[in-house]
Amino acid sequence: MMGAAGVARKASGSEGLFHRIGAFLAEQGLSPEPGNYAFAYAVLSDPDSALAREVEAITTGGFRLRRDDLERLGLEIGTAPPPRRVDANPVFERQAEQLVAQTQAQVDGFADIVREMHNETHGFGRDLAESAAAITDATPVAVSELSRIAGAMLARVHDSEQRLARATDETEALRSKLAEARTAARRDPLTGLANRLALTEAFDARSSRDGPHCLALCDIDRFKRINDEHGHGVGDRVLGMIAKSLSESFGDYVVARYGGEEFAVLLTGVKLADAAAMLDEARASVGARRLRNRDTDAPIGAVTFSAGIVAIQEGESAEEAMDRADRLLYTAKAQGRDRVCAG
Ligand code: GH3
Ligand code: MG
Ligand code: MG
Repeated sequence: MMGAAGVARKASGSEGLFHRIGAFLAEQGLSPEPGNYAFAYAVLSDPDSALAREVEAITTGGFRLRRDDLERLGLEIGTAPPPRRVDANPVFERQAEQLVAQTQAQVDGFADIVREMHNETHGFGRDLAESAAAITDATPVAVSELSRIAGAMLARVHDSEQRLARATDETEALRSKLAEARTAARRDPLTGLANRLALTEAFDARSSRDGPHCLALCDIDRFKRINDEHGHGVGDRVLGMIAKSLSESFGDYVVARYGGEEFAVLLTGVKLADAAAMLDEARASVGARRLRNRDTDAPIGAVTFSAGIVAIQEGESAEEAMDRADRLLYTAKAQGRDRVCAG
């Protein structure tokens, strides 16, 4: 039995890349998340690559890729340097983003072609009908022959128009799926918060006229202990609780899951002293909760976070501001955790 990449190679002439990516994800039992799309794209867009060949070798015989295969292979997709933090994978995020942009451009181009063809066939049909009307004084045999030809051509035009209308509908459906994928590419699936890409975009979209702006980085204290004592599922629920609490505390400001158990907040139009006070309130609000493991009813106790917050400087990149916030976060940890350090 052929492997996944082999199937992709075989199907390359007859199906669009977008559909083949969908089929690959379904075959491998992978959800249509940006990271999985990016992986499928990397495998299917270049079936002769080392990655595609390795996938082929693993999946030949109808086997599915295992999680550890994906993790191992995922690291080989990008050529970008490894991320500063190990929890998120910006290489995947960037590739998914590129995929969506490329496919969007293809779909836009296709929609334009379809529209042009539609206009042409429409004009062709009209001309043909006019020509048929202008030859009524020719001989009866010629008229009958011309009329037969015109009838056949009109039928073909009609058929083409119908096919084009269907293709246009499909293109529109694809366009809205891509818009959904663009939105999904900016969300963290576990918490529903913005992800790092969305945060960076919001950071870059700020206007210095509306400043000052602040950036905060929060990291849960001793989070490993929660996973170790209560299991990863409980850890995930705690992440969801903290995400919700931060969203409530910060209203319309962008709150993002920046990495595994790290959250970032972009406070636009707020000066540092006020932003630090808001962050400290959010910290106290999370720390005041007493959590329980809902499966075993065992107390989890208080969960706290430490944070660093900086005023974003003129011309500073998201990475630079985040590095400064990270250093202050480190200071907050070193000073005993459950606190905010501003700078
Ligand atoms: P510190 O106070 O120094 O930050 O201690 P810590 O235990 O929080 O720090 P550390 O970085 O050692 O551990 C972070 C842990 O977060 C390790 C990792 O397994 C866990 N983690 C990262 N992402 C997730 C996730 O999505 N779900 C769960 N349940 N755990 C995660
Ligand atoms: Mg951490
Ligand atoms: Mg931590």
